[in-house]
Amino acid sequence: MRNEKKSVLADKDLYDQSKTLKDANPVASFSPLKSQPSSLKILLWDIDGTLMSSTTHGAFKIYFAPVMREIYGSAGKLADLQVSGMTDTQIFYESLKDEGWTPAKILGAKDKLLPVFKRAMSDVIGRTEKPYELKPGVREILEATSENPHFLNALLTGNLSVAAQIKLEYFDLWKYFEGKPNIFGEISHDRRELGKAAVKTISKFLGEKLKPEQFIVIGDTPNDIAAARAFGAKMISVATGSKHTKDELLKYKPDVVIDNLGNTQNVLQILGTI
Ligand SMILES: [Mg+2]
Repeated sequence: MRNEKKSVLADKDLYDQSKTLKDANPVASFSPLKSQPSSLKILLWDIDGTLMSSTTHGAFKIYFAPVMREIYGSAGKLADLQVSGMTDTQIFYESLKDEGWTPAKILGAKDKLLPVFKRAMSDVIGRTEKPYELKPGVREILEATSENPHFLNALLTGNLSVAAQIKLEYFDLWKYFEGKPNIFGEISHDRRELGKAAVKTISKFLGEKLKPEQFIVIGDTPNDIAAARAFGAKMISVATGSKHTKDELLKYKPDVVIDNLGNTQNVLQILGTI
């Protein structure tokens, strides 16, 4: 009996000591998972149709067309192109392939392209009233996951880096991704290559080789599912895009399909258990 009591007291003493240490040292209060990359889940977010969408269908063509004419000398078939799920570089390529452009040639002009693109897009967005709308629950789930030491948020987007930043800054969401190992559309025209690049880039960022199943892609199109499957990641499809219903997405066999990100607790539960 006496021994039991002693043991309880000893545990309490240990608890108090650990609490004091945590209070005194903010690093000690940080979950150890944050410093163990092998225990992290990497959340790779698509942007268009997942976090937000344009209020006007095809509005991006207003700035894509003059940029393409300036950089590539032509906008090619841009006006007629259906672009859902395409990377920005793929849009350039699909528009211009009949004029002899290859993905490599298009990406070869990247350094010249990005500042021109940023200026043209900023101009158009700056004079457009309400160019984008936020999807339900996005701010809440990004806030919740960014505060949770089990998760690391990053972008896996077909958007050029400059476009992603402009869109997310519009909603003050860039802060969740700034300085993170994001994967952008200028890496490849092929979204599946973007997925593979994510493993390399994020493993390097964390200083440890991660397992494919530590990655969860969250996106709204079959192309996102293909990108996730290309490197063995888990996939959560969100039916908030303009092109694909829940039933259509189910045909491509993601791990989970949800209507939207509106129920933060539900999404957190899925992310934690998938
Ligand atoms: Mg999308």
